[in-house]
Amino acid sequence: MALRIDGKRISQEIKDELKEEVASLKAAGKEICLAVIQVGNDPASTVYVGNKKKACEYIGIKSLSYELPESTSEDELLDIIKKLNEDDSVHGILVQLPLPAHMSEDKVIDAISPAKDVDGFHVQSVGALSIGKPGFVSCTPAGVIQLLKRSNIEIEGKECVVVGRSNIVGKPMSILLLRENGTVTVCHSRTRDLKEVCKRADILVVAIGKPKMIDASYVKEGATVIDVGIHRDENGKLCGDCDFASIEPVSGAITPVPGGVGPMTIAMLMYNCVEAGKNA
Ligand code: NDP
Repeated sequence: MALRIDGKRISQEIKDELKEEVASLKAAGKEICLAVIQVGNDPASTVYVGNKKKACEYIGIKSLSYELPESTSEDELLDIIKKLNEDDSVHGILVQLPLPAHMSEDKVIDAISPAKDVDGFHVQSVGALSIGKPGFVSCTPAGVIQLLKRSNIEIEGKECVVVGRSNIVGKPMSILLLRENGTVTVCHSRTRDLKEVCKRADILVVAIGKPKMIDASYVKEGATVIDVGIHRDENGKLCGDCDFASIEPVSGAITPVPGGVGPMTIAMLMYNCVEAGKNA
């Protein structure tokens, strides 16, 4: 029977460790503070921002909330970021994506000081990751590494296959697995024989954005399968990029959706905030 990797439990464990750390920082006179900026009122973004603020509250991180109207200009947003960059009492700055179409996401993200880039999306953070220098790491792939480590799944020397090459998941995921001494293959929409490549994996990380596309026929017996995808199926139930029911019997370990990778993203955001505060 496959090990069900419990992201809910592991993320709670991380949040509880951070809560203790934040309390001792507070006792020593340092209050960690995250500024959260949302432009417009996209309902999904409002839910994500609400969850991030709730996590801050739980851990004891102060959160400053900037709820800006859709009509905010790019210059106005850049001005707010500049002030937050200069404010020593603010340790992390998070701009909830997507931004309205009249703004350049790249320009906005790159305006955040790399020292406060707790999402790990700044071009300098990405560059630092790729050459092994210190910097913030994108939260979802960092969460996957924690899921593997805290489930005692060894990465070193393993065949790791990442399906997806996005800037926020697939690419940083592949670099992190490489940093842990995995042998890494990255697949994408032009990969030939995707099934054959996936079947080589000891650790298969799937981030393609296609509901239940990966089934048991892509999985080697005993492999660890990490499903990053989040979707609603035809019955409105949450599901991932992997067909859990098909894969679970052949895999050695697998993340469920929900309750796998999802809760780890916020836990790692909180981790990055605490690191930003400690570095300041
Ligand atoms: P993107 O759409 O940015 O990237 C998808 C990647 O999958 C692309 O590299 C694409 O290839 C590849 N791909 C698409 N179709 C296929 C295919 N048929 N065969 C092989 N590769 C394919 O998605 P994200 O990386 O942002 O997200 C992936 C999934 O993870 C989504 O379901 C998203 O909702 C979820 N997600 C979950 C998070 C969490 O907290 N749990 C956080 C972020 C994302 P190409 O580059 O060639 O187009």
